Amino acid sequence: MSRTVVQIDEHGGPDVLRLRELPDLEPTAGELLIDVHAASVNFIDTYHRSGLYEMELPLIPGSEGSGTITALGDGVSGFAVGDAVAWAGGPGSYASQVSVSAAVALNVPESMSLTAAAALPLQGMTAHYLIDSVYPLGPGDRCLIHAAAGGTGRLLVQMAKLRGAEVVATVGTDAKAELARSAGADHVINYERVDIVEGVEAAVGKNAIDVVYDGVGASTFEAGLAVLRIRGTMATFGNASGPVPPVAPIALMAKSLFLTRPKLFDFVITPEERDGRWNEIVGWVESGELEVRIGLELPLAQAAEAHRALEARQTTGKLLLRP
Ligand code: NDP
Repeated sequence: MSRTVVQIDEHGGPDVLRLRELPDLEPTAGELLIDVHAASVNFIDTYHRSGLYEMELPLIPGSEGSGTITALGDGVSGFAVGDAVAWAGGPGSYASQVSVSAAVALNVPESMSLTAAAALPLQGMTAHYLIDSVYPLGPGDRCLIHAAAGGTGRLLVQMAKLRGAEVVATVGTDAKAELARSAGADHVINYERVDIVEGVEAAVGKNAIDVVYDGVGASTFEAGLAVLRIRGTMATFGNASGPVPPVAPIALMAKSLFLTRPKLFDFVITPEERDGRWNEIVGWVESGELEVRIGLELPLAQAAEAHRALEARQTTGKLLLRP
């Protein structure tokens, strides 16, 4: 028996993603063997592919997905063969079969489809730690969320609204503006047509944003600093437009700003912390308060197409690859 995987032998553009057949995996101690329902595509996969984040090669990209357990490694407890699970932090997820540490596996309740579950561990828990731990939002807070129709961005908008905050959102097209509005954004700016600072100030006034959640990076960072209030927080958590250039601490002095560059795995350190985030997200989906939007589903063989679309800003919501 063999498993189908996407593999890269060298860093480069989307064409380096190639379909391969490899021997089936065997159960490993502490791990779950899983038949993959959907392998999730995240922007970080493009950094691993391009070499922005250097990786050991050859590499099977992808770290997130959902599926059904087919075997348990020694020492695994709390899971059974046949269970539906999802995961973030399972390397080599662009595949028909994966072996994932039980420590990163998340139970998927019967009420949730495996397709929806594949969209939530990485982007959902990222949105959750940003609104809950990096700058805990509450009623009366005002946040700026970039790329608000994207996978992470649209979840962020919804969660910020669930916490009672006022949301200013940016997007790159009018169609994306509709998606941001339908997620609950109070003000939406198309930053391809309107200057970000002017747009934000027209919506809420000068120096009026408590926190900027910025997954876009190079092209939005400076504008984010400009619209923050005194003692506001810049949470720059991604590089979709390229990494933010070095910043001198003195640049933060004018408004005594806080600057942080967080990553998910430092906010799901203990099982309690991770399960707490996951359970709240599952609860929101079950109650209908959080909508999961799958923007594009492609066969595993078209992983290159998925990366091209993501990097060309042609996608909305979540991208999934189906083995
Ligand atoms: P998205 O679905 O948000 O796709 C990226 C979006 O960024 C695009 O759709 C586009 O939206 C916007 N964008 C703006 N400029 C560019 C550009 N030059 N090239 C490409 N896209 C651009 O992706 P994800 O939700 O997967 O990730 C969003 C960001 O969050 C990424 O930077 C990712 O690395 C980061 N991230 C960080 C995590 C962390 O813990 N630190 C965890 C998860 C994600 P538009 O057209 O509206 O501008």
